[in-house]
Order: sequence, then C-alpha cells, then structure tokens
Amino acid sequence: MGIESFPDFAESALRRWVLIPASTRQRLISNVWCGHCRHGTTITDFRGIVENGNLLLVGKCAECQGAVVRVIDGA
Ligand SMILES: [Zn+2]
Repeated sequence: MGIESFPDFAESALRRWVLIPASTRQRLISNVWCGHCRHGTTITDFRGIVENGNLLLVGKCAECQGAVVRVIDGA
C-alpha cells in the first residue's frame, strides 16, 4: 500500500500511519468497537487525524454505517 492509498489522511496522521506494519494496520481497521452494534467491527470510509497526540481513525461502521473512531495509542 502506498501513501496514495490514503488520500483522506492529514499529513501528520499519514506520517504515523505508514510507519505501522501493514498487518497491524489491517488488524486495527478490522477491530473497531462500535457503540451501536455493541461489538468489534470494521471501520470503512475512514480518514486519519492526529488529536491530542494520538493518531485517530474516523470513519463508519461497516455494519450499521454509524460513526466510529479508532484511537491508536503510541503510533
Ligand atoms: Zn455498527
């Protein structure tokens, strides 16, 4: 996956995201808690931002289309 695969990432978020191994990124994407579904789900249509020093993925639940956020600590 190249940088061009994540057009919706802020530059600061993208710099951190690309340092995470692809297998780990896949696990993070596919293991996001959805408060509506009440279980882990896959985040879709997500973008990346950095907030309070944490890398955040902001997107939608693949099942219910509700808003979900994945905080990636220490990335
Ligand atoms: Zn959901």
